[in-house]
Amino acid sequence: MPKQKILIVGAGITGIALAERFAQAGHKITVLEKRGEIGGNCYDYQDKNGIIVHKYGPHIFHTDNQEVWDYLSGFTDWHHYEHCVLGSIDHQLVPIPFNLNTLHQAFPAEQAQQLEKILLAEFSPGEKVPILELRQTKNKDLQLIADFVYQKIFLNYTRKQWGLEPEDIDPEVTGRVPILISRDNRYFQDKHQGIPSKGYTSMLEKMLQSENITVRLNTSYHKLPDRQTFDQTFYTGSIDEFFKYQLGRLKYRCFKFALKTVKQNSYQPVATVNYPNDYDYTRITEFKKFLPSTNNKTTAIGFEYPGDKGITGWPILNNDNSKILRKYQAEAKKLSNITFVGRLGEFKYYDMDDAVANSLAIFKKFNE
Ligand code: UDP
Repeated sequence: MPKQKILIVGAGITGIALAERFAQAGHKITVLEKRGEIGGNCYDYQDKNGIIVHKYGPHIFHTDNQEVWDYLSGFTDWHHYEHCVLGSIDHQLVPIPFNLNTLHQAFPAEQAQQLEKILLAEFSPGEKVPILELRQTKNKDLQLIADFVYQKIFLNYTRKQWGLEPEDIDPEVTGRVPILISRDNRYFQDKHQGIPSKGYTSMLEKMLQSENITVRLNTSYHKLPDRQTFDQTFYTGSIDEFFKYQLGRLKYRCFKFALKTVKQNSYQPVATVNYPNDYDYTRITEFKKFLPSTNNKTTAIGFEYPGDKGITGWPILNNDNSKILRKYQAEAKKLSNITFVGRLGEFKYYDMDDAVANSLAIFKKFNE
């Protein structure tokens, strides 16, 4: 590929991985970012008490993709961290996803023993069973477990998170937090898990450190006078926004994230506590639990409030949005030298590792 002038719109993890790869191959890159900071929703910073907080909600890196892990490890060391979540259910904190430990905490001892036997007779050890699948069981005992998990863990959390009933969202979404037939209390079972030892922003800044990369913050694509002069554009903003919403709006679940400092060393036993059934927020995250801090006087916590307004969060995967997306994608095909990428560009529920894998694959395709 001859050396090119490339525009990357959006300095989130997708755009930055693209910028790093193309710059390293000798292309000249301009990264535009409409916010005043890089990192997209992965942006983190040290607060006034020296604690690294995630401005747009908790991000925990986990992957089975060796290539992605090795790639990012070129820009950061990792603090080994395995995410464990507790859910506040009936006035006690129980492991989430629901697993055999949760079963023993939630049910009386004898009944739990019996239910464990039934689960192990039906499923293999380590199996992950989506709740909507378990709900279809004809077995009365399994139904009891399914009802418990659905009513106490899924129904109200999902209503808060999405403003929808679990049945009305893509099974891929509720399947992310299945029932675990094991005593593994971890939220993720991936081979590699961790938090960049100096935070995500530090890692992403390193990726942008190249004489071939210019970053322009507080700059929006449509206001860039020379935007037509680039050989290639990778657009990681919302595809419907690019087309000025002419064919309809793609709907995202948005959120507000409220950070708070509390004057105590520790606020909760684990980094994240989910509140399926109480309050307007879905979960509270305590940031010291991600990266240890020498500060033992205060701690920083964040409350996550999903809603129709706020920061653009999760794409709502349904038929209406798929139809709108296909129309925009057909329009995008008519344009030459512009590629829509990432959570907003492709309207996909990307985890960070998949977003990076996607950028690596796109780079390879273009650089062949
Ligand atoms: N979920 C739930 N209760 C929980 C945790 C998750 O009902 O305690 C459901 C909910 O529908 C949520 C989905 O599982 O949207 C995926 O959760 P996950 O934690 O993977 O979402 P993310 O990390 O993207 O916020």
